[in-house]
Amino acid sequence: MAEEKLRFETEVSRLLHIVANSLYSQKEIFLRELISNASDACDRLRYEALTDPKLLGDDTEFRVLVSVDKKARMLEISDNGIGMNRTSLISDLGTIARSGTSAYLEEHGQGDDADLNTIGQFGVGFYSAFMVADEVEVISQRAGDEQAWRWLSDGTGEFTIAEGNRDGRGTTIRLKMRKTDEEYLDNSRLRQIIKTYSDHIALPIVMTGDDGEETVNEASALWTRQKKNVTKEQYTEFYRHVGGFDEPWLTVHWHVEGKLEYRNLLYVPSAKPFDLFDPSRKHGVRLYVKRVFITDDAENLVPAWLRFLRGVVDSEDLPLNVSREILQDNPTIARMRSTIVKRVLSEFRKKAEKKADEYKLFWDNFGPVIKEGLYEDFENRDAIQKIVRFYSTTGNDDLVSLDDYVGRMKKGQDAIYYISGEELDAVRRSPQLEGFAAKGIEVLLLTDAVDEFWIPAVGIYEGKPFKSATRAGADLDKIETDIEEDSVKDEDNSPEKGKVDALIAMFKLTLNDEVKDVRVSERLTDSAVCLVSDEGDMDLRVERMLKQQNQLQQSFKRILEINPRHALITALAQSVGKEGAGEKVEEAARLLLDQARIIEGEQIPDPTAFSRRLNTVMASALPVE
Ligand code: ADP
Repeated sequence: MAEEKLRFETEVSRLLHIVANSLYSQKEIFLRELISNASDACDRLRYEALTDPKLLGDDTEFRVLVSVDKKARMLEISDNGIGMNRTSLISDLGTIARSGTSAYLEEHGQGDDADLNTIGQFGVGFYSAFMVADEVEVISQRAGDEQAWRWLSDGTGEFTIAEGNRDGRGTTIRLKMRKTDEEYLDNSRLRQIIKTYSDHIALPIVMTGDDGEETVNEASALWTRQKKNVTKEQYTEFYRHVGGFDEPWLTVHWHVEGKLEYRNLLYVPSAKPFDLFDPSRKHGVRLYVKRVFITDDAENLVPAWLRFLRGVVDSEDLPLNVSREILQDNPTIARMRSTIVKRVLSEFRKKAEKKADEYKLFWDNFGPVIKEGLYEDFENRDAIQKIVRFYSTTGNDDLVSLDDYVGRMKKGQDAIYYISGEELDAVRRSPQLEGFAAKGIEVLLLTDAVDEFWIPAVGIYEGKPFKSATRAGADLDKIETDIEEDSVKDEDNSPEKGKVDALIAMFKLTLNDEVKDVRVSERLTDSAVCLVSDEGDMDLRVERMLKQQNQLQQSFKRILEINPRHALITALAQSVGKEGAGEKVEEAARLLLDQARIIEGEQIPDPTAFSRRLNTVMASALPVE
C-alpha cells in the first residue's frame, strides 16, 4: 500500500498548535507521557495473552527501551506491547477520544492564551511529543499481525501513513528533537527525568547507551511497596500515570488481608474534572489481578457517586483470566467495593472533622456527586449523612453538618429547615427566610440540583423531617426563641384582625384564578409578600428547576402570604371599606402578586399590565400643584 496523507481532526490540529507553541515550563513531561503509554500497551498485551499466549511468541519480557542518536538528533522510545495496526494508528493518534475535550477546545483553544496547564487535564498524552520534536515518527506492529506501519507527522495538521518495518510487535516512537531542546538527547538528563517521573512504572525502563544497557527505574508496582518506602513525589507521579493532572487532595494506600486479599492505592483529585457530570464519565480506578492489568472499566468496583476516584485495586483472589463481562456481577468485586467505599468514607470523615478548611475545598468540588450517594446507596446512607456539609443561614461561609444543625435546633422545633435555589446569594436573600432569621432559626441553603432528589428520598435525619422554608405550615409560632419577642412582632403596628381578614378576603376574590390561597404570614418580617407552596404540593424551586429542564408541564398554584406588619399592608387593611378603596385594593393585590413572583425569580405572566399598574401608582403618588 502506498503512502497516504491524511488530515488530523480539527480538534487535534488545534491541540497540536497549542502544544507546539506553549511555553509550558515542564516540557520534560513528554517523556513521562510516552513511557506511560508504552507501559499501558504492555499491560494490555499481557492481559490479552492470558487467553491467547501465542501473541507473545518468544518475546515474553515486557520492557521499554530508551535510546539516543545524538548525531541524528533522535530520541527513541520503544516498547514490546500490544502495538497498533493501520486503523488504530489513524484513529488513536489522529482523534481525541476523551469526551468534552472537543467542546473545551472549541471554547478555549482558539487564541494564543490557551494554556497547557489547564489543557493538561485532557491528557495531551502522545501529542506532548510535539513540545520538543519537529517531527515524530511512529513505527508500530500490532501483536499477532505480520505487517508494521509507519506514521509520520510534523504536527501541523497532516500526517502520513505507510507500510513500515519493525522487528516484531510493539511500538517505537522516534522524536526528531528541536534544536532548542537538545538537552533531551543527553543520557544523564534522560535518566534523571525517568527517575523523577517514571520510577513507579512496573516494568523495566532500559536505557541503551555506550556502556550497554541499564535499567533506570525500580520496576516494581508502586502499590505493592510499603507505604513507608514511597515518597510523596512518587505517589504524585503515579497519580499522573493513572490520569491525574493536578495534585492529589487525598491519597489512600492500604492492603487488605483476610478472606480476600487486595491492595488499593486511591486518589481524590484537588480540582474538579471538567467532565464530572458527563453521563458517560467513568471512575478512574484500574483493576489489576496479581499485578496484571485487567481493565479500567470495572464499573462495579466503585459506585458512581465516587466517580472522581483514581488509582489501582489489585486483587489476589480473582482468576487471572477473569473476563470483563464476568466482572459485572462478581461477588469478589462487590465485596472489595464495599470495603473501598467504607474506607474512603472514613477518610472523608476524618478530614471533615479534623481539617475543615481542606474539606471545604473537597466539598465544593465533589459535594454534589457525593450527595447522589444519599439516594443511590442505601447501604452507606448513614455514613454519607455524616460527611455531607451545607451552607446555612448561621454558618456564614463555614459549612455545617447535619449534626451541627440538629445540635442547634430550638426548643419546639421539630424539623430541619432548608431552602433551595440556584445561587447561594439569591437564596440567602429569600423573603421566606425573614421569619426564621427573626427567631434565630437556622435554615440550610441548598443550591445543587441533586438536593431535590435526595431530600425526598432521605426524608428524615435523627427523627427530624426535612422541611422546606418555602412551604406552608412552617409552624414557626410553636418554636421558642432566645431573641427578644419585641423585635419579632411589633403588635402595635398590626391593624385589627378584622381588617386584615377583610383585606385577605378581597385579595382572594381578586386573585382567585391565580393563587391557591392568601394567608397571613408567620415568616415575613421585612417584605410585604411572598409565595409559598402548599403542604403536599411540589416545592416552588423544584418546580422551576424541572420546568427549566423540560421535565414538567404541569403548574401548581401557590399560596400568597402577606405580612400584616408591613406598612403597605397595614395601610391597605386600614383602607378597606372606605370609599373608592375597592379598585385600589384590587390593583394592589395584582401588583403584590407580581412582586412576589419577581422576588421568587419567576416570570410575570403579563409584564405590560404590571407596568401600567405600576405607572398608575407612581403617578398618583407624585405631588400635584
Ligand atoms: P491516552 O494514553 O491518554 O489514551 P494518548 O494521546 O497518549 O492518550 O494516546 C492515544 C492512544 O494511542 C492510546 O489510548 C493508545 O490506544 C494509543 N497508543 C499511544 N501510544 C501507544 C503505544 N506505545 N502502544 C500502543 N498504543 C499506543
